[in-house]
Amino acid sequence: MQSVYDLHAHTTASDGTLTPTALVETAVRCGIQVLAVTDHDITAGLAEAQDAATQRGVGLVPGIEISVTWAHQTIHIVGLQIDPDCRVLQEGLAKLHAFRVWRAEEIARRLEKARIPGSLDAAKSYAGGKIISRTHFARFLVAQGYAKDMKQVFKRYLVRNKPGYVPGEWADLEEALQWIHQAGGLAVLAHPARYPLSGQRLRQLLTAFREAGGVGLEVVSGSHSQGDILRFAELAAHYGFYASRGSDYHGPENAYADPAYLPALPPQCRPIWTHAQWADCTAT
Ligand SMILES: [Zn+2]
Ligand SMILES: [Zn+2]
Repeated sequence: MQSVYDLHAHTTASDGTLTPTALVETAVRCGIQVLAVTDHDITAGLAEAQDAATQRGVGLVPGIEISVTWAHQTIHIVGLQIDPDCRVLQEGLAKLHAFRVWRAEEIARRLEKARIPGSLDAAKSYAGGKIISRTHFARFLVAQGYAKDMKQVFKRYLVRNKPGYVPGEWADLEEALQWIHQAGGLAVLAHPARYPLSGQRLRQLLTAFREAGGVGLEVVSGSHSQGDILRFAELAAHYGFYASRGSDYHGPENAYADPAYLPALPPQCRPIWTHAQWADCTAT
């Protein structure tokens, strides 16, 4: 019954719109029995999520989604079954947090130059005092009518060569995996179809990820098409990766799939929850 696993989801601790408790309740309604909370570069939502999951009889996988810069691209690495109290992990995340604060100020400065004032205060209020991300700027820009939806707003304002784009360096691939391993977790490459990489670049990334100790590929993601799923199932088999399944749910406004409608892993995949190091956190 693999449809009970959703191993990638966000809360208000990063850029999701549901509190950890509300996310767990949504997961229950969607029939999810094992849920990973994987906020961007922060573990602050995990304690509340664990409490809610215990109450509702759901298995909670403590997770993280780390922002990495690899070959000038931002890549996301999910860490599953991490110990959030790990000092090495938290020191690494603190470094990313400092960069994120600087970047938010810089995005606002650049948007102001493009005659869009007030974005920092607005983005901060969308963030609600937690981690501030480009998604919060995007929500402000959509609300102000600068674009019709979240997809368009990123294309017009927040990616390379657009007014609100800020270059910068997140973690190295190797260091992000070290943080995850130090925290006892399993590293999974998130939504691999989303990166604008050539076939050759992608193979280089998969090789580098495997060499650094990565064990999983997110074959099923809310942002993957059926074609992406089949392609990455093949690549996972080719490289010897376990396959993960995660909605990347950010709340009901999210353009991606609702956890209830997330496809199953193709039958040839080895699910990440069959990995020898996977601790059974299924609620009984
Ligand atoms: Zn991501
Ligand atoms: Zn995500």
